[in-house]
Amino acid sequence: MLEIKDLHVELEEEEKKILKGVNLTVEPGKVHAIMGPNGSGKSTLSYVLSGKEGYEVTGGSASLDGEDLLEMETEERAAAGLFLAFQYPVEIPGVGNMTFLRTAVNAQRKARGEDEISAGDFLKEVRAKAKTLKIDADMLKRPVNVGFSGGEKKRNEILQMAMLEPKMCILDETDSGLDVDAMKLVSEGVNALRDAGRGFLVITHYQRLLDHIKPDVVHIMADGRIVKTGGPELALEVENNGYADILAEVA
Ligand code: ADP
Ligand code: MG
Ligand code: MG
Repeated sequence: MLEIKDLHVELEEEEKKILKGVNLTVEPGKVHAIMGPNGSGKSTLSYVLSGKEGYEVTGGSASLDGEDLLEMETEERAAAGLFLAFQYPVEIPGVGNMTFLRTAVNAQRKARGEDEISAGDFLKEVRAKAKTLKIDADMLKRPVNVGFSGGEKKRNEILQMAMLEPKMCILDETDSGLDVDAMKLVSEGVNALRDAGRGFLVITHYQRLLDHIKPDVVHIMADGRIVKTGGPELALEVENNGYADILAEVA
């Protein structure tokens, strides 16, 4: 499904290598976690996959279901089924949350050659999904993320994901800034979307999110590379010993 081969990325503005040969394959139905110290390139990987400007791919490839992601515009990647939940969700003043969601859902349907969702069906669906994430009607009416708390912003990211039903979901430190209750809501939202046809890449600095979203595979990223891959026990090793032991072992 998601296949990344020997991906090398530099900053466009200055000569700085950030990703130095990332290899990763996420199969349908699987949850892969990427852990790693701050500054190791986790967010950069998610940005490059989703097409953020400012990064230059100097080598390697990334594809979704065999389609070259790196050749596509950001909206084409979304239409192909890629979704990124941001580490720092942006506020969009002047754009109502409902309007935003409906526009995004319809853009994706259009790209797939499907009809627009009816106003009634959309309302029913968004209300049901918002309810499970404890997002109230007022939050749906307000501009996207404006004045939302950290936890509300993250839950709103998961609502977007639930509405778009992507093939490949990337969650960049969705747990940062969440209290235990909000983390449970977010995790339940993610777990509800797990199915045989959908892949997840869960990026997290800490192990605690992985108590709730059980990964199939855990990767450790350091200095622009995946330096170790294992099962859920690898996350526990990080929890108990930090990154120092693993980094020393692979050095
Ligand atoms: P992580 O998400 O693992 O904490 P990042 O991908 O955010 O790491 O950053 C990796 C490295 O690249 C860091 O040293 C960071 O400072 C640098 N970096 C990433 N994007 C930029 C940018 N746009 N401008 C300057 N430095 C950047
Ligand atoms: Mg960071
Ligand atoms: Mg980051």
